[in-house]
Amino acid sequence: ATVSADLARTARAFPDHDALVERASGRRWTYAALDAAVDELARGLLAAGVEAGDRVGIWSPNCAEWVLTQYAAARAGAILVNLNPAYRQHEIAYALRQSGTKLLVSATRVKSSDYVALVQAVRDDCPELERVVFIGTPDWEALVEGGAAVPLSALREREAELSPEDPANIQYTSGTTGRPKGATLSHRNILGNGFQVAEVQRWTEQDRVCVPVPFYHCFGMVMANLGATSHGSCIVVPGALFDPVDALDAVQAERCTVLYGVPTMFIAELAQLEAHPGRWDLSTLRTGVMAGSPCPVEVMKRVMAEMGMAEVTIAYGMTETSPVSTQTRPDDSLAHRVATVGRVHPHVEVKVVEPESGATVPVGTPGELCTRGYSVMLGYWNEPERTAEAVDAEGWMHTGDLAEMAADGYVSIVGRIKDMVIRGGENVYPREVEEFLYTHPDIEDVQVIGVPDERYGEELMAWIKLRPGAAELTVEQVREFCAGKLAHYKIPRYVHLVDSFPMTVTGKIRKVEMREEGRRLLG
Ligand code: ATP
Ligand code: MG
Repeated sequence: ATVSADLARTARAFPDHDALVERASGRRWTYAALDAAVDELARGLLAAGVEAGDRVGIWSPNCAEWVLTQYAAARAGAILVNLNPAYRQHEIAYALRQSGTKLLVSATRVKSSDYVALVQAVRDDCPELERVVFIGTPDWEALVEGGAAVPLSALREREAELSPEDPANIQYTSGTTGRPKGATLSHRNILGNGFQVAEVQRWTEQDRVCVPVPFYHCFGMVMANLGATSHGSCIVVPGALFDPVDALDAVQAERCTVLYGVPTMFIAELAQLEAHPGRWDLSTLRTGVMAGSPCPVEVMKRVMAEMGMAEVTIAYGMTETSPVSTQTRPDDSLAHRVATVGRVHPHVEVKVVEPESGATVPVGTPGELCTRGYSVMLGYWNEPERTAEAVDAEGWMHTGDLAEMAADGYVSIVGRIKDMVIRGGENVYPREVEEFLYTHPDIEDVQVIGVPDERYGEELMAWIKLRPGAAELTVEQVREFCAGKLAHYKIPRYVHLVDSFPMTVTGKIRKVEMREEGRRLLG
């Protein structure tokens, strides 16, 4: 099916069920109302001259209109271009031009980001950009009302011409390792994956999903939104940008059964629960997904025990694969559920290879993870060379992630190839050192990087965020904590205490930036 047809199917099955709740404004839509609002907006897009295959951009923090635009673009046969709300002038101009966005839906001002001024500043550099519609202004009303001129039958004809193989989405990757790439995904890619992610968590029309992760990223728009609308579950938007208090308030007020987050979000929520015992009733919570970056065992255990998310799962994936390739399941053993990223999803294949030769490595040996199946992207938008570097002739996506597969099929992510540290000829995976340091009672969050060293090539530096009220940790104390428990070459040589880490808006740690800063700190 297409994204559009699937929403219509759910709306017929569960017309009176809640579909979407925006906490900031108190607005709510049932499935019948959501489907009707999407029809209205899609007709507006047709009236605005949007043709099948045209790019419709959405540049906004989370709000209800984000979701409406997502489904209306699909229904109009357009390709939705997800633009990172943290982009600034240079990046937004690049993405708008690179994708050839024709119509852009944007926010006005959210916190310190003045999107109106930013759009104005880049408009002249984007010759293909014909129209900009700011949410919450008369532009938006005009777009919706314009649709009255287009008969519903014209929209139904447009929908009938759509194929599941058509591109539905250009999603720029997070840019953790460099310039973002416009992964182009079909209806089949994203709808199939959203459905499977929700299946693993056993969602039904009774589930209510709290989504503090950005919609612009596949974690939000596919794993949350498409997962929900393919199952009749309700999307709850706790706020425009992540805030742990908003997320916990939303769970309580909307009786959410599901909570999503990257590890740093769960860490922030756990810190709130610790600081305010008894303030939130989270008893409705059952499941959810932690994903996006390495999920520390200690954090997983605490989420299960302290947030009542007994069935929480870990997912692994990347934008290029729609995104999820492996996921833990509630019926896996506890050890598998906290320390692996689970087994391969239905209709997806994985293998672990020696990065240079491409030969499959023996079970239990780290190598580059490759994935293949319905979920692999159509390609990077207008970048055939970069596509060929990522997806080989046999259809395998080379992820750039180091993984180990056990004999029983469970996959563990060891780290990113680019983050691996080579100290005195020994390979060190920062992930392993981070996992160990998380067991220290005073450490709330920790990230480990390699910094240049004359003698060993690289040395390890741990950036540590202490728990509130903990006394400062010295490098000697940290080294003492590790002594005898980690091999000597894995013990950090440097410790840097911080309040926060450089992060992308999706909550990924920018280790590239940390490495630059680490170099500066050492002078
Ligand atoms: P870019 O490709 O632009 O540098 P990015 O790779 O961070 O950015 P995404 O597609 O958002 O962009 O993220 C995918 C990556 O996130 C994966 O390749 C992997 O490194 C990491 N990742 C996702 N889930 C997990 C997980 N459960 N455990 C460990 N790492 C994960
Ligand atoms: Mg990537």
